[in-house]
Amino acid sequence: MRILLKLSGEQLGYEDEQGKGSGFNVERAKWIAGEIRQTLADALNNGKTEIAIMVGGGNLVRGVFFEGNDEIGQTTADNAGMLATIINATLLGDIFKAEGIPTAVLSNVSVSQVVDDFTYRRAESHFKKGRVVILAGGTGRPLVTTDTGAVNLALELGCDLVAKATKVDGVYTADPTTNPDAEKIEQISYEQAINDEQIRVMDKAALGMAGDHRMPIVIFELLQEGNIAQVAAGKPIGTRIS
Ligand code: UDP
Repeated sequence: MRILLKLSGEQLGYEDEQGKGSGFNVERAKWIAGEIRQTLADALNNGKTEIAIMVGGGNLVRGVFFEGNDEIGQTTADNAGMLATIINATLLGDIFKAEGIPTAVLSNVSVSQVVDDFTYRRAESHFKKGRVVILAGGTGRPLVTTDTGAVNLALELGCDLVAKATKVDGVYTADPTTNPDAEKIEQISYEQAINDEQIRVMDKAALGMAGDHRMPIVIFELLQEGNIAQVAAGKPIGTRIS
């Protein structure tokens, strides 16, 4: 089993007044490292599990932060967002290593003083050595997000599924944080997830690419102990998009 875990930048930040994560929260990163360590330990009983992690950058910079700004162009804004993912990935990588997890960080945006460039062969070689591979820089191109990067890299690396960690425990019929009538959906098709305007848990472009290539996606709650291990063991938690 090889999984690609998508962690958004917000999940690596401190909660601000609006409940959004900003900055880089070392304690949170250590907690995530503990969950990954547990997942790798559990996997010894269920067969090998390989983990790639694509990190977002929304705790630091997102392209949309500059929407409507006349001076900063979209490409520059998106490039800044991709650089933010490198900051997150390299910090997270050090924390993983300090917590005893063999880890490599590879980036789709070349900042060669800071991080190794992603290549398929390098990633495979790290997996063979038993390392978790943290992926930075999204797709390396502007105009998309790390959700699309996650699906794209999962396909390239032959992953069995994309596990998207969120604040809520799956896809709901409406936003469960604002609508008390929202109901959880256990399983949904790509088409339904793309066409339903209420479903905003993952970018539509990412869902489209996953659908075209039949890459399963599991949407699950990050901050529940053991959840990453459960997803990696193929347990039916969260919502499965397939
Ligand atoms: N980004 C990009 N291309 C990519 C991935 C990311 O241009 O392939 C930029 C985009 O501006 C995005 C930002 O990097 O808003 C940070 O990524 P994202 O918003 O996906 O982070 P998350 O919401 O997961 O924290």
